[in-house]
Amino acid sequence: MTTEREGLCDSHAHLYFPKLVEQVSDVLRRAAQAGVTSIVNIGTRPSTNPVAIEQARSAAATAGGTPGVDVPQLYATVGFHPHEAAEIVDEDWPVIERQAAEPIVVGLGEFGLDYHYEHSPRDAQRRVLRRGIELALRIGKPMVIHSRKAGLEVIETLDEVAGRDRMPRGVFHCFTDTWELAEAALERGFYIGITGIVTFPNAPEVAEVAARIPMDRLLVETDAPFCAPVPMRGKTNEPSFVGYVCDRLAALHGIDPQVARRQTTANARRLFGI
Ligand SMILES: [Zn+2]
Repeated sequence: MTTEREGLCDSHAHLYFPKLVEQVSDVLRRAAQAGVTSIVNIGTRPSTNPVAIEQARSAAATAGGTPGVDVPQLYATVGFHPHEAAEIVDEDWPVIERQAAEPIVVGLGEFGLDYHYEHSPRDAQRRVLRRGIELALRIGKPMVIHSRKAGLEVIETLDEVAGRDRMPRGVFHCFTDTWELAEAALERGFYIGITGIVTFPNAPEVAEVAARIPMDRLLVETDAPFCAPVPMRGKTNEPSFVGYVCDRLAALHGIDPQVARRQTTANARRLFGI
């Protein structure tokens, strides 16, 4: 009988951030050893989008070995994070549209609203999100949505800009919101991305909501270098830790960890076409 482990997909990491970029070859090898076979490297702003793409193209080759076996297969997304919305100018849009058309770019984002940190004024955030949705509709690639204390407004914006009958596909990443918001996202066809926060003892409500989301709509992610899961909490997060998130989901759903791996990886493949 084979005991081969199902490959994991870390559906959301930032490999170009400090603490990861200087050791990315080691990070990728450790990820492969931990059973991670694919990683989506998420862009956030005009200066990091091309870096995310370039890393997706070359980092696995630099680390050596066969992608998907010795090192994970890498993909990228390009987006304008709500934190950076105030810096986005008209000239940035044709650039991101060209980047988005590249085959290694499997999604658009992060786009969204963040009213918790509010690093950019709300009207700038709203403007960028609306254009991001329009871009996703035009290009036909899925959206990676960042929402913090603004979930219902993100849903309303999707309904307004896209409409219920031509909703873009996508994922609400690093989900920490209520069941009502999860339900609204699920009704619109979105997946829900769960990070290491689901393992935190002080975030029982995140685990409660994750337990109610159907397994065929869940993605696992690290959001590395942030949010390291228990028992790695406090360390720099990296894709090799995504298995802790997946195991926690398996426990919450009362299913075999291998089944959770197979399911969440299949979900990521379906969403991103990878
Ligand atoms: Zn992120």
